[in-house]
Amino acid sequence: MSQAPATSLQDIISHAKEYGFVFPSSEIYDGLQAVYDYGQNGVELKNNLKAVWWKAMTQLNDNIVGIDASIFMHPLTWKASGHVDGFNDPMIDNKDSKKRYRADQLLEGKAEEYREAGQPEKAQELLNEMGRLLGAEDLAGVRDLIIAEGIKCQVSGTANWTDVRQFNLMFSTQVGSVAEDSSQIYLRPETAQGIFVNFLNVQKSGRMKVPFGIAQIGKAFRNEIVARQFTFRMREFEQMEMQFFVRPGSEMEWYNTWKEARMKFHKAIGLPAESLQYHDHEKLAHYANAAVDIEYKFPFGFREIEGIHSRTDFDLRNHQELSKKKQQYFDSEINQNYIPYVVETSVGADRLFLATFCNAYTRETVGEGEGQKERVYLKLHPALAPVKAAVLPLVKKDGLAEKAQSIAQSLKSSFRTVYDDNAAIGKRYTRQDLIGTPYCIAVDYQTMEDDTVTIRHRDSMEQERVHISELKDKIGYEVAMERILEVI
Ligand code: ATP
Repeated sequence: MSQAPATSLQDIISHAKEYGFVFPSSEIYDGLQAVYDYGQNGVELKNNLKAVWWKAMTQLNDNIVGIDASIFMHPLTWKASGHVDGFNDPMIDNKDSKKRYRADQLLEGKAEEYREAGQPEKAQELLNEMGRLLGAEDLAGVRDLIIAEGIKCQVSGTANWTDVRQFNLMFSTQVGSVAEDSSQIYLRPETAQGIFVNFLNVQKSGRMKVPFGIAQIGKAFRNEIVARQFTFRMREFEQMEMQFFVRPGSEMEWYNTWKEARMKFHKAIGLPAESLQYHDHEKLAHYANAAVDIEYKFPFGFREIEGIHSRTDFDLRNHQELSKKKQQYFDSEINQNYIPYVVETSVGADRLFLATFCNAYTRETVGEGEGQKERVYLKLHPALAPVKAAVLPLVKKDGLAEKAQSIAQSLKSSFRTVYDDNAAIGKRYTRQDLIGTPYCIAVDYQTMEDDTVTIRHRDSMEQERVHISELKDKIGYEVAMERILEVI
């Protein structure tokens, strides 16, 4: 067995589409840029990822509870959070190709070139200068820097650039049916604020004691300037966020705890240690006093899948100021009132899906000489696989089909099981390999005699003979979410 060439993003996109994981949105109309739909297998994998995250937060921790807040929120929320004034990306257009870029990404790309050419100091100098200019909101300076660095448009090959402008990433819409009464509201760009505005509701109704956390999974929307790399950067996506409220002064301890806990989670779902790394933020957001990303090695390089941020009391303090409602907590242990500090863990469900999918995608050459062929399968953790078991009669006749159907029926209430009698058995194994089904159960003539079947294991392709009565426990054990949760 040998490893085939490296997987490209194109391999991933094609496989995801062909086997019902991810489709371009409204494809019959040629799609909508940076918006995707999950298909029949994709939704199962994504739901499993969301379920394991949810359980890891709310089931493994006594002091974390979940909520489900609305996408629409009072517009002042986004004033308080800083998104109305500051959730901008600097954009620049090439006048010849009309192609739009993020100015900071053009400069980061140039810095990367310097680094690759063995000039890391020059790369750092450029990033420092960019940071200084952006910090001072000197957009003309950013444009001058792009020109001074000789950066050209990939399409036109020219440096004929427009001015740099700030572009707010929030989508807005109107509420109210009568034009005069309607007011502008936003589609939330992050789920976190739904947690902050409910902080006291949860704390009081649940009699929660600091430190405690609130977890949420939900849609977020960002009008990204440059959206590419498949589901890595979308305009509509899902976040899984947890805000952990702590006593001021203890935030660094909790930040380090969560930094480690979250890395452990990614390893537990099957992402290998060598494909994961921390990336500390050099330049901190205005609200943060520490921030780190967990990055995964995608086919296009190491990129962020999760952010862990120590957000101080920035959000609650601003909500207190704008809403005029106290956001304080009385800590009976130290007899003090304070606004808690917050440590946030924020992971994109879609990026986690993409990382899991890329990691699972396996292409190997099997067999020898003439019989050599390529085999593609998804090496998903059994608990995450869209289908856990497929029951396959060797042939349809002589009662084998009915026997297989009754086995499938008996397993369905325990885990997701499918029945398939269409085509040669080898083809049916391949079909299940391609969607990552960990166990195929074959029903043959011996089954009719002694009630035993073979279980074929996806990764090793090895087969073992077991009694039908053992299937539920044996497979049920392997595919249970507990297998992941117990190693977190
Ligand atoms: P990036 O720097 O890649 O734009 P970010 O730092 O703005 O990401 P956060 O605001 O920290 O991201 O959001 C937390 C998580 O939400 C990210 O780690 C990512 O997994 C996910 N996320 C953010 N933007 C998108 C997007 N456009 N598409 C898919 N997932 C996203």
